[in-house]
Amino acid sequence: MNRAALEQAGVEITDGAVLRDVTTFRLGGPCRACLSCRTPGQAVQAISALRAAGEPFVVIGSGSNLLVADAGLDAFAVRYVSPIPQIERDGVRLRVSGSTELDALAAYGVQQELAGLEFLSGIPGTVGGAIAGNAGAFGRSVAEGLAGVRLVDPAGREQEVPAADLRFAYRSSRLQESGEIVLSAVFDLRFGPRPELAAERERILALRRERHPDWRSTPTAGSFFRNIEPTSAAGPRQAAGWFLEQAGAKAMRVGGARVFEKHANIIVADPGCTAADVAALSREMTEAVRRRFGFDLVPEVRFLGSP
Ligand SMILES: Cc1cc2nc3c(=O)[nH]c(=O)nc-3n(C[C@H](O)[C@H](O)[C@H](O)COP(=O)(O)OP(=O)(O)OC[C@H]3O[C@@H](n4cnc5c(N)ncnc54)[C@H](O)[C@@H]3O)c2cc1C
Repeated sequence: MNRAALEQAGVEITDGAVLRDVTTFRLGGPCRACLSCRTPGQAVQAISALRAAGEPFVVIGSGSNLLVADAGLDAFAVRYVSPIPQIERDGVRLRVSGSTELDALAAYGVQQELAGLEFLSGIPGTVGGAIAGNAGAFGRSVAEGLAGVRLVDPAGREQEVPAADLRFAYRSSRLQESGEIVLSAVFDLRFGPRPELAAERERILALRRERHPDWRSTPTAGSFFRNIEPTSAAGPRQAAGWFLEQAGAKAMRVGGARVFEKHANIIVADPGCTAADVAALSREMTEAVRRRFGFDLVPEVRFLGSP
């Protein structure tokens, strides 16, 4: 890996970086090195360099949907996050870097009187991470306003792909299997009056403050399990939190991991918590729902390594 060329391009390389420092659960051990990229060009360079050197790597965004093993990863981490939003506007169309944070994108939409992004307010991830997992809230998902993406595949080939080819489904896309990385995304929006958009954003942020832990002070990865597909044994009910609450999850704790008091589908990490504690608690929660309702919950949080 040509380290000097990467550093010259603005990629920050941290040897032996500890992944707990870059995840909202604040859990996880070291990786070989973390390559922090902000722009699509930096991400392509980092990935190409690792590929050319035959080095194993994972791509992460804000680390807000991850549970990383306490032992860490014998791999490099490419971290693609930009604290400064990278957004170009052309009428009602936006091109946004995959590294832009969702909440910053939602705020930009309000400020520019462009409707369709308000539901992303307060979700602590990047545009790239959200597209990979088709993140959503309040009945909306990120696939909806998306026209297309610019991807780089594991072999280093870049291409523009229309959203219709990404096989979006509930909290999933083809990117979860293909290993393709979202460099940038194009959203087609519509005009909306600023006072209405601002009020909707405020309403959503207030709901989040009321129902969710503040990830800045309380380590968590948000909803731990996916909601239930309507075809499953669960019948018409779909919220994983409802089944967990009925199964007594709110009283559960393993080591430093506990279920959040206001939401049975959220695990929070108290001081001293390990990724193994979270994994063990999630298994207990799954077993409690299986005993009571006869089906298995599926994690929404992605595991890196074996916690
Ligand atoms: C308090 C809290 C509330 C949350 N609320 C919601 C919610 O309402 N709805 C919801 O859907 N989620 C929610 N989440 C989960 C999380 O914020 C989202 O899933 C988010 O989109 C993850 O983005 P990320 O950048 O943090 O991805 P990461 O957690 O870093 O990575 C997740 C996955 O995406 C992949 N990935 C990351 N960047 C890219 C990229 N550029 N290209 C391709 N793949 C990539 C990674 O390889 C990994 O597999 C919440 C989390 C927290 C902590």
